[in-house]
Amino acid sequence: YRRPVFNFAAGPATLPESVLLKAQADLFDYRGSGMSIMEMSHRGKDFDSVIKTAESDLRELLSVPDGYSVLFLQGGATTQFSAVPLNLCSSPADPADFIVTGSWGDKAFKEASKYCTANLVWSGKPNNYTDIADPTDPNFLLRNNQNPDARYLHICANETIHGVEFKTYPAPENDNGLLVADMSSNFCSKPGDVSKFGLIYAGAQKNIGPSGVTIVIVRNDLLLGRPQPATPVMLDYKIHADAASLYNTPPCFGIYICGLVFADLLEQGGLAEVERKNEEKAGALYGAIDGSDGFYVCPVERSVRSLMNVPFTLRTKELEKKFVEEAAKEGMVQLKGHRSVGGVRASIYNAMPLAGVQKLVAFMKDFQARNQ
Ligand code: PMP
Repeated sequence: YRRPVFNFAAGPATLPESVLLKAQADLFDYRGSGMSIMEMSHRGKDFDSVIKTAESDLRELLSVPDGYSVLFLQGGATTQFSAVPLNLCSSPADPADFIVTGSWGDKAFKEASKYCTANLVWSGKPNNYTDIADPTDPNFLLRNNQNPDARYLHICANETIHGVEFKTYPAPENDNGLLVADMSSNFCSKPGDVSKFGLIYAGAQKNIGPSGVTIVIVRNDLLLGRPQPATPVMLDYKIHADAASLYNTPPCFGIYICGLVFADLLEQGGLAEVERKNEEKAGALYGAIDGSDGFYVCPVERSVRSLMNVPFTLRTKELEKKFVEEAAKEGMVQLKGHRSVGGVRASIYNAMPLAGVQKLVAFMKDFQARNQ
């Protein structure tokens, strides 16, 4: 790792150095073409190879089954909050179920309420989003409050602000058996069984690329229903699936970077190896928090702590401010918690090296010794 800082930002977030260096070269002259990758037609053969390779590498990484389409879209994960109900509910009267375990799931629920009859199955809000009702039995939630006619069940697989991550997924028996997940902040951080989901979406800017690309993985039979009549073309999955994500000009440069990241993850040994590294990093950081005799506190229930976003607090706001400022001086930046919850948050996505976490842990011990 050659850079002078470790970037703990929640997104846009740190990217692998090897990817950035390669992109730096291709930015000026893409493989001897005399043109930047940024300047090339999205319908030319160079970009055709870029997007096809990105898709096939992603399919290999996540073992995406044949009956699913992979779409490279725009508008961020936020756009999917409306695109999902517009495509999966035939009218705003159709119900859909939501489990809300943090602010992002809540935003998805509220936005969807404009385009479907959104039913709140369970919310972690009364506990400040620090747990999931019964993580060993995710169906507990459904048995109680599910709408039997719901078209799908929506979850946020990893809550970026609150650091709450589903470790096992609910399996809705109603809801057409359809589980929809926002995986923006833990996409490609571990192996997963895509066949459990009707639809997965993720903004790229945490684990897999720059902002501006949103990945949607959708089961093909769901593309055969009709989206709601007023659905804009840009939000109509079938249009993008039929055009292989080239209905209009796609975010070419972002897709190119995602492709480099996918190739890098495959080279590392695939997602099982990526998960092993992520567990090692998260283990070191949570270990430091839990071993601090209460100097650092992570409010999240242990069994659902995120491998990606680690929020913690110190005794006072002043001490937290001092922590963030001193860490930045030592080259560990972007550690301030989200403005809505305060505290400290270390985002340790795939591209954060173990050395970055070890440096942070050493700093935490030293800071505690000086401020006990
Ligand atoms: N969902 C989650 C889990 C997120 O972390 C974010 C962004 N931080 C969003 C959705 C919104 O994504 P975007 O900014 O790409 O619209």
